[in-house]
Amino acid sequence: MMIKLTLDNIRTLNMTADILFKNQAKMQTKILKINPKKPQISKIKQAAKIIKSGNLVAFPTETVYGLGANALDSKSVKKIFIAKGRPSDNPLIIHISDIADLEILVDYIPNTAHELIDKFWPGPLTLVLKKSKLVPKITTGGINTVAIRMPENKIAQALIRESGVPIAAPSANISGRPSPTTSEHVSNDLDGKISMILDGGKTNIGIESTVIDLSRKTPLLLRPGGVTLEQLQYIIGKITIHPILQERKTKLISRSPGMKYRHYSPNAKIILIDGPNDKVQDKILRLLSQFKKQGKKVGIMTTVNTRYKSDMTVFLGNNLDVMAANLFKTFREFDAKKIDVILVQGISRKGLGLGIMNRVEKAAYKKIKI
Ligand code: AMP
Ligand code: MG
Repeated sequence: MMIKLTLDNIRTLNMTADILFKNQAKMQTKILKINPKKPQISKIKQAAKIIKSGNLVAFPTETVYGLGANALDSKSVKKIFIAKGRPSDNPLIIHISDIADLEILVDYIPNTAHELIDKFWPGPLTLVLKKSKLVPKITTGGINTVAIRMPENKIAQALIRESGVPIAAPSANISGRPSPTTSEHVSNDLDGKISMILDGGKTNIGIESTVIDLSRKTPLLLRPGGVTLEQLQYIIGKITIHPILQERKTKLISRSPGMKYRHYSPNAKIILIDGPNDKVQDKILRLLSQFKKQGKKVGIMTTVNTRYKSDMTVFLGNNLDVMAANLFKTFREFDAKKIDVILVQGISRKGLGLGIMNRVEKAAYKKIKI
């Protein structure tokens, strides 16, 4: 049976998770501040002990915070799905600290994988390959491919090394919510549901890793992210872009079940408006006055430094790195101000812009093209 994940369904899943948790004793979540440049080994050891005992630790990576468990142990991985309220067919990314781990997790490593690993690992690039028998089906959402990445963040690397096992880690948020880029975001979503949060400060990149499927003849881009499509094309040439990323209907969805779900959403409804600057500004003004008349609190995210009479305007600037780093944090700030509607100006899908707009599109309730 296919479950379409609407916000209501997400709430139901979260309620189910809550009920499951109420039946267990509420857990005390330990928050441990740790130095991102020189992670203290005693703290890493405490966290690794939790992973080894089959429980959950949230930790920073260079993209967003991850919620980690022993990737090879079904019982541990199940706890991730319960804590997040994540649908069981949405596969997890396995994080490794040593290339030798890749060899035991996959069946076959194609040349394209070697080329991309040489260039982008450690870093924000996830490779999907045919899985080996060692990887439990629960980790891959029931499919025969596995997603693997080697993070660059020193805390993440030390934790994986010290745990002695590959770590499955989706973003450390309640399913459907914006991904966490600080430990406060993690504790807002998961306090009492996980054993520990390693607080290594704000994450650098701010959107998730790029996911590319190399288990097929032509590489398939499943999720744009920290490494850009252009960078990938430069190294391996032809790449198919998953039709869903281009908003086209497709049967290819079975290759990456997670793609069908709504993601990254603040409580406020996002309306994305694409088009030439002046026309988008006019549209924003009209929508603003329309929603204000209805008594709604309106937020605006714009690349044009205009003063709008909104309840909160965020000027995105034109630096894509800064935009990505602040995107999810901004979504959560709109929620903290109880904004009802966020009007977002679309940007060019070039470079990191493709990943940024993918997150906004997946979070959007409505898209307008002028
Ligand atoms: P998250 O860790 O929450 O950022 O989500 C990981 C995403 O990676 C999923 O939603 C999938 O789209 C993708 N993914 C993970 N494993 C696989 C896989 N085996 N095949 C295809 N896509 C995958
Ligand atoms: Mg996620």
